[in-house]
Amino acid sequence: MGGFFGAVAADDCVTDLFYGTDYHSHLGTMRGGLAVRAEKGFQRAIHDISNAQFRTKFENDFRRFEGRSGIGVISDNEDQPLVISSHLGLYAIVTVGVVTNHAELTRELFAGRSVQFSEMSRGGINPTELVATLINSQATLAEGVRYAQQKIEGSCSMLILTDTGDLYAARDRFGRTPVVVGRKEGAVAVAMESCSFPNLGYSLDRELGPGELVRCACDGVETVLPPLGPLAVCSFLWVYFGYPSSSYEGRNVEMSRYRCGGALARRNPVDADSVGGVPDSGVAHALGYAAEAGIRYARPFVKYTPTWPRSFMPPDQKARELIAQMKLIPIPGLIQGKRLVFCDDSIVRGTQLRDQVKRLYDDGAREIHMRIACPPLLYQCRFLNFSRSRSEMDLATRRIIREIEGDNADVAAYLDPDGTPYREMVGRIRQRLGLSSLAYQRLDDLVEAIGLPRDQLCTYCWTGEDVSKPGGCTHGCGHCPAPCAAGGGGAR
Ligand code: SF4
Repeated sequence: MGGFFGAVAADDCVTDLFYGTDYHSHLGTMRGGLAVRAEKGFQRAIHDISNAQFRTKFENDFRRFEGRSGIGVISDNEDQPLVISSHLGLYAIVTVGVVTNHAELTRELFAGRSVQFSEMSRGGINPTELVATLINSQATLAEGVRYAQQKIEGSCSMLILTDTGDLYAARDRFGRTPVVVGRKEGAVAVAMESCSFPNLGYSLDRELGPGELVRCACDGVETVLPPLGPLAVCSFLWVYFGYPSSSYEGRNVEMSRYRCGGALARRNPVDADSVGGVPDSGVAHALGYAAEAGIRYARPFVKYTPTWPRSFMPPDQKARELIAQMKLIPIPGLIQGKRLVFCDDSIVRGTQLRDQVKRLYDDGAREIHMRIACPPLLYQCRFLNFSRSRSEMDLATRRIIREIEGDNADVAAYLDPDGTPYREMVGRIRQRLGLSSLAYQRLDDLVEAIGLPRDQLCTYCWTGEDVSKPGGCTHGCGHCPAPCAAGGGGAR
């Protein structure tokens, strides 16, 4: 997914920038970057963080950088920040999101003939350079940001640091990613994770609305482009991505996860000796389950945190599976002969979970009951780099549906948790994973646990509903709550 942090201060901002960016390390795997507007121009550093922590890699830059405004990023893919020279002046830019229509946008830009790209990312055009090129195609920075927001399919939040030291922040068009503003005496910070504020002395000032652009100075924040609507903030922030001590739209992650676990326990009770969570994000869900069910919380697996502190994994699937195994160390006394409930945030492919279940049985577990904090993932996220899957068919649900119905299945028929297709799909996933029982969260319970109205949340990966499309539904399924663009819908 990625995350960013920016700061502007009356004095030097580099310490806040360094630690503030570091507090976004759980959001990305590949690259870290910093840019500071120093007295004589921009200072910039980009490092590979795929196998080392941000702080270790940027320690030397931290010592040599100085300036009153700066931006930092943790990125899943491309090198950033980029320093761009254009008719809008010199500026540094970082982006978070995914541009799904990059090929079409590139073709359009090339049609103008005077555009070229120099920064490559995995053999393709660097998405941040593409965004900067869209911005530069307009007369002013504000017009350019709005134009980019309108043209981009997917999502794009950004920070821009101008040559004059002005810090601009824009939230993506539908607010799928959060952007929050913090203030303290003589400084303003902008971040994706509000948990980056308290230890640096910032108090949360406000959250940007969808599409809003602000200019930050050390003594205040001014709206340059007003928010647009509607809001469709990513529900997965509360389930998995978000840091427990962060809040988005005023709803804290850890507390939402407790409520998720509580709802799972009420709907899916089972006799068991203990409840555990698959670290890290499954833990708070499990604490909520244990409290509601009145079953003791225990840690049959403990995560080796001293050298495996990050929640994301390397790009190679085999390496990810090996690392997933190396991170978790079993405690036989809490497993042998026991009936275990486990809570996890989600099932994507199911391969890691299958391996963990096998290890638990090998260690003598009598029963394993899995409780998943969100509904079955049926659609691949189009708005963030949620998973490295190239195909929707990597999803455990899709493979099972294909097995049941072949290639032209009506996926939307599997949305209803009370329906026969859903029950058959979940039953087969349970069987494949070798579980004693398996239950997923219901969408209405998840929405209630988050605490925002459903129409302010993106739920696309579970429902296929997309607010950026007319009518809200992308598949003409006849199952979406609102009539869909293809003429179906309104059935539930
Ligand atoms: S599709 Fe899922 S992961 Fe992607 S933004 Fe929407 S809720 Fe978040």
